Amino acid sequence: MKLADTPVTQHHFSNIPFYLKRDDQLHPQFSGNKARKFMALLENDYCEITTLIGYGSVQANSLYSMAALASLKGWQLEFYVDRIPSWLQQQPNGNYQAALELGAKIIAVADSKLHPSDYINNIRQPNQECLVVPEGGRCGLAEYGVTQLAKEILQWAQPITDKEIVVALPSGTGTTALFLHKTLSKHGIEVVTCACVGGKEYLKAQFEQLGESNHPTILELEDKHHFGKLYQQDYRIWQQLNQEANVEFELLYDPMMWRCLINWYPKNQHKQLIYIHQGGLLGNASMLPRYQRKYGD
Ligand SMILES: *Cc1c(COP(=O)(O)O)cnc(C)c1O
Repeated sequence: MKLADTPVTQHHFSNIPFYLKRDDQLHPQFSGNKARKFMALLENDYCEITTLIGYGSVQANSLYSMAALASLKGWQLEFYVDRIPSWLQQQPNGNYQAALELGAKIIAVADSKLHPSDYINNIRQPNQECLVVPEGGRCGLAEYGVTQLAKEILQWAQPITDKEIVVALPSGTGTTALFLHKTLSKHGIEVVTCACVGGKEYLKAQFEQLGESNHPTILELEDKHHFGKLYQQDYRIWQQLNQEANVEFELLYDPMMWRCLINWYPKNQHKQLIYIHQGGLLGNASMLPRYQRKYGD
């Protein structure tokens, strides 16, 4: 199976004209940047493998993407989490629910007092039928699929504009931004990102761990921003984006990137912005009710 060539749509937000690379539309279930990062696993044959093993947060976008991948490949997904809140067990929603529906086994390890990754190594002890993926797909394996994304951007962009092109996307582990930058920088295209998890120094350390010393540009907000915390400003930006650009964005990562871009744009108006829609919209099913309870509609 080959998934590629997502569409590009054209929008405005807060007077910023931009193109949107629709990786949210890569596949109904296996989409967004997790699908790009795991694409090598989809396309290659792994005759011996029966079980895909991952770990992370119980509502992670990567949980759903790995469940979709496992179901496409006929593998069993085992996903190790710290704990599963009882309210979520009683009323599953978002990525957790969708992963269960795709047949994922989601296993809580808090009782063992071990970190999920240690639990996998020490207790689960994967054998040669298992394929273990690091949290969030932070690994060299991701380069293959992200390079494919970079090539699609290059092919699409070069005939479209003679303006300087800038590609923007928010970072968690930074894997997607880093490997995009690795290809696009050779063609004079700048990649800008922001550190949604752990701040700029943490993101740089993640880039270094992936073995690259040449990094994308990291934009910052004036105030510290904590991952998963609710910010009224983020909620407002997300609502305005929905309205003005007429597209649903993701609530955990995208608002921070757009806040950075609003500050960035006045000095960069001569450039053509391409934003990568990295999917993850099912996660909104759990984030949006939290925002609505806190700030109303
Ligand atoms: C996982 C994810 C990110 C972060 O991707 P990294 O490659 O870890 O930087 C950004 N946006 C969305 C919607 C995601 O699901």
